[in-house]
Amino acid sequence: MKTNIERPDRTHPQSLSELSLAVHGGILRDSTKALRTPLVMANSYELPEDPSEISWSATAPGLYTRNSGHNQVALEEKLAAMEHGEAAVALASGVAALHAVFFTHVSAGEHVVVSDVTYEATWRLWSELLPGRYGIDTTFVDVTDPEALRAAMRPNTRLVCIEGIANPTTKVADVAAIAEITHDAGAILLVDSTFTPPPFFRPIEHGADLVVHSLTKYINGHGDAMGGAVIGGRELIEPIKADAMVDVGGVISPFNAWQIQRGSVTLPLRLRQHYRSAQGIAEFLESDERVAYVYYPGLPSHPQHDLAVRQFGATNLGGTIAFAVAGDSDAQNRFVSNLALITSGFSLGHDDSLIVHVGAEGPRVAAYPEPFQAYGHLRLSVGIEDVDDLLDDLRIALDETFAS
Ligand SMILES: *Cc1c(COP(=O)(O)O)cnc(C)c1O
Repeated sequence: MKTNIERPDRTHPQSLSELSLAVHGGILRDSTKALRTPLVMANSYELPEDPSEISWSATAPGLYTRNSGHNQVALEEKLAAMEHGEAAVALASGVAALHAVFFTHVSAGEHVVVSDVTYEATWRLWSELLPGRYGIDTTFVDVTDPEALRAAMRPNTRLVCIEGIANPTTKVADVAAIAEITHDAGAILLVDSTFTPPPFFRPIEHGADLVVHSLTKYINGHGDAMGGAVIGGRELIEPIKADAMVDVGGVISPFNAWQIQRGSVTLPLRLRQHYRSAQGIAEFLESDERVAYVYYPGLPSHPQHDLAVRQFGATNLGGTIAFAVAGDSDAQNRFVSNLALITSGFSLGHDDSLIVHVGAEGPRVAAYPEPFQAYGHLRLSVGIEDVDDLLDDLRIALDETFAS
């Protein structure tokens, strides 16, 4: 798939393929003629001779870093091109991006439908914070059940909120089918696509109105910056910039935007490695009798395997695996502490492999598949190390955990 991006420094706009776009997208040259987008650590920009008519909530470039910082604008341009969206807004974190959509596009008295297995902060925002404070009604629904989804829609439903591959259960949503039901009811569809970044999946091409990313994860990919983004049509993104970015202020720092733009250069290459290794590791784990269960969309045993292959392609089934070793919570902790290369940590989508033990307690767990409820789960984010080293690490940790 080719994308047209304007290169102000060249005579002809170029039609770029994915790898080229990841390298060249969003480069804003300045008077230094530096080949890379300069890092502009400024809060404020010199105003024109008569600034009295400029709105302090405007998002035109060259005002103030909360309105339109140089590195933020460069990153937004690149993300919009990579997702094939009209416009993007970059914010301080993934949850700032999610909240920016909710704050801007849902009002008191409206209703939202949210996937029953969703990222912790999304779940808490919609189960407690926004209903409690602003009187917005939420229905949590199994988005793999089209009848349940259709039945959940109301005349005042404003937003449907799902994840392409859900964190942490790896439940896969059929974005095109959900978009149709959402639009039939006059609502807008938000897809948190953090687990499924471009170029291998673009929810907008399947009917999503808005795409959210935690840039902290795969898009930056190096575990050294936080950020979030919303991508979509201009008429939905511009109000998010004016209301939630400029006037609420969860803006991304210039340094983080610059780092994320740099990290994203290698995104397509890294994703191929993440995905290939994750498939091999999921198959290994599933074949080992000391492992209680494995959820990974690339396994034929995964409940939405066929949908995942159809929607994402046979080799792009994600880099994150949920599983548990046979045994209780102590066994899960022992297994994690026996790992040497794979580190216990909260994040995912980094160059290094990370694992986190999540227990079987808590209000969200009731919607998780039965084995998650019985054993808790380990969320393994497969990094870009050599897969044989990762397999050795897992094998040795299993041996040590189950040595009697
Ligand atoms: C991590 C994550 C987020 C939140 O992103 P932060 O950058 O940590 O705020 C949102 N959604 C999903 C699916 C995530 O994995």
